[in-house]
Amino acid sequence: MKALPVKYLKGVGPQREEILQKELGIFYFHELLFHFPFRYINRSKIFTLEELYRMPEDEIGSEVQVMLWVKGMELKGEKRSKRLVAECVEGNRKALMVWFQGHQWVSKRLQAGKRYLIFGKPGRYQNLIQFAHPEFLEEEKLTAQNLPRFMPVYNPTETMKRAGLDSDGLFGVISNGIRMHLHQTVDENLPESIRKKYFLMNRLLAFEKIHLPDSEKDIHHATRRLKWEELFFIQLQLGKILKNRKKYSVGIPFTTSGDLLKEFYEKHLPFPLTDDQKAVIREMYEDMRSGRQMNRLLQGDVGSGKTIVALILMLIAIGNDCQACLMVPTEILAQQHYHNIRDILKGLPVRVALLTGSTKKQPKQKIYEELQSGQIQLLIGTHALIEEQVKFKKLGLAVIDEQHRFGVAQRAKLSTGYNPPPHVLIMSATPIPRTLALTLYGDLDVSVIRQLPAGRKPVKTFHVYENARLRVIGMMREQIAKGRQVYVVFPLIQESEKLDYHNLEKGFEGIVADFPEPQYHVGMVHGRMSEEDREHEMRMFAEGKTNILVATTVIEVGVNVPNATMMVIESAERFGLSQLHQLRGRVGRGSEESYCILMTGHKLSREARRRMEAMVQTTDGFKISEMDLELRGPGEMSGTRQSGTEKLKIANLITDGPLLKEAREAALELLDDDPSLEKPEHACIREFLSQKQEVNDWTKVG
Ligand code: ADP
Ligand code: MG
Repeated sequence: MKALPVKYLKGVGPQREEILQKELGIFYFHELLFHFPFRYINRSKIFTLEELYRMPEDEIGSEVQVMLWVKGMELKGEKRSKRLVAECVEGNRKALMVWFQGHQWVSKRLQAGKRYLIFGKPGRYQNLIQFAHPEFLEEEKLTAQNLPRFMPVYNPTETMKRAGLDSDGLFGVISNGIRMHLHQTVDENLPESIRKKYFLMNRLLAFEKIHLPDSEKDIHHATRRLKWEELFFIQLQLGKILKNRKKYSVGIPFTTSGDLLKEFYEKHLPFPLTDDQKAVIREMYEDMRSGRQMNRLLQGDVGSGKTIVALILMLIAIGNDCQACLMVPTEILAQQHYHNIRDILKGLPVRVALLTGSTKKQPKQKIYEELQSGQIQLLIGTHALIEEQVKFKKLGLAVIDEQHRFGVAQRAKLSTGYNPPPHVLIMSATPIPRTLALTLYGDLDVSVIRQLPAGRKPVKTFHVYENARLRVIGMMREQIAKGRQVYVVFPLIQESEKLDYHNLEKGFEGIVADFPEPQYHVGMVHGRMSEEDREHEMRMFAEGKTNILVATTVIEVGVNVPNATMMVIESAERFGLSQLHQLRGRVGRGSEESYCILMTGHKLSREARRRMEAMVQTTDGFKISEMDLELRGPGEMSGTRQSGTEKLKIANLITDGPLLKEAREAALELLDDDPSLEKPEHACIREFLSQKQEVNDWTKVG
């Protein structure tokens, strides 16, 4: 492969070179090849004027081609309405071409008495078909070369347009480049065996046809090939990590499930486990006793009971004379897990500690020491767990809860530096679609809890406008009268913190006015409170001492108060779909009927409306996350930012599931056959990988 700077392309001078660099970040021709058309105009069809006249106006739609004789040209009108009009005929039908600008340029190129292929959007004016500013090409000059049947359309920026690099201009540069330099620039990177098996076009042809297609079929095959390749190389990287780990990575063998677990199971288990919970525990225990390191993603909807699964696995670790830790994204959650787990474990010989950012210096120091001496067996906390000073004596299992808040790098940090490395369990907050999971976590094994604990009723969800506030307050009263509790959540977006707190305060005052003391107790939590105050408020609510908790999204993940049966979300349009689902997941945790009320203003964007509809339609987190992905795209989904998926240039994680499956299968098969890619027929892959180092960066982690 030769890296050819764009300035060597025909039609690119210093000015355009600079524009390509600045506007698109493109320095070389091979990068320009990845600037794909976003659609094509089908120019294979040439209409007759007769056809256009017969077509109902709304059917004509976009640009069409016609072949017309130019009868004559005339400048009409004065000053601003001055226009160049060309009268054209075909058979006994007449049409006009009109230009409001560029008269000189056109009249130099258009001649009466000649026939032209005309391309433009037909309109009707005084019963005549008329093309404003159409493209035209003299019949005699028509050759296959200057008439691509499918004209690619590129997306230029304004600056590019001004420099003549509009869609057509770019097309000119790219098509010339392809004709002159494609062979030196692009190398095949898939062996023939794979291309044959999966019906993939060769790479050079794919780049040619995606920019210069002759048919729909060309577009399809070229696109398919390039998407496939993109997915394949991601899967190959992930597959390598996966296989290496399976093969070489020694893990701590948990030879026994331990007496500790036995005692817990018999005397402390607060409820019978669901079949899914049992199944995933078994699956993971198999991993952990295998002598290899476990690296697993546990997917399960909000409320499916992932915590108890994690706890049981941590007890197995402790029963094998190891330590375990649980890392969660927020302080509140860490505290809650800490208190819950301590309650559940009461009477068992397990030393549990809590470490967060707000742990004071002295107790912190003590925790560090007791971790190193092995006295603390189970550590629960936030990011504070990945600080340098935290050194376990023998960490056997690291659990990361609500993964989407953590970056990929952070997940790696927790488990590195130990030999042998601890087993790693990652628990997703909300499930993510399989296609995304395979791309983000393709290096992990995946376990899924599909079932919710018995007796759960789906949360009844309503979307109402703000004028329904009185009814909502009525519902809140009903729930409280039944002894239940209510959350009221206000959005909090950092950029407008002041305003948000103002809204929160106002909202709080309003609710206190509607639910006055001493009959009612209303609490409030938000991120600006001191640690103690927040903990106090949460505790009051958890113990049923407050009826209503007014909160920001600090309660979004994980918080567990089963007696809370109603979630009111203010300005719900300001939340993303996953976030709404997480918030809704705070209720419906017991066996009582629960409600989620989404309050919005009347004016909603289309997308916001679809979010509300999705929430009302389904409580299935797997479905919600698919819709979320569809609405926002993978790059926007939290947690994926750091992962590099937003760098996908052509493949689409929503629609290309089947291709992803093929590519993954091919990648894993290839690695089975030739793990270090030594075979001569795989040289093309090896070379491509070594040239494409930057792709490595994001998959290396973990
Ligand atoms: P998540 O998967 O969202 O983390 P949690 O672990 O917080 O869910 O569990 C949600 C609630 O369900 C908790 O109150 C928990 O005690 C309860 N729970 C979990 N498993 C079961 C079960 N098998 N039977 C009954 N309740 C359960
Ligand atoms: Mg949880």
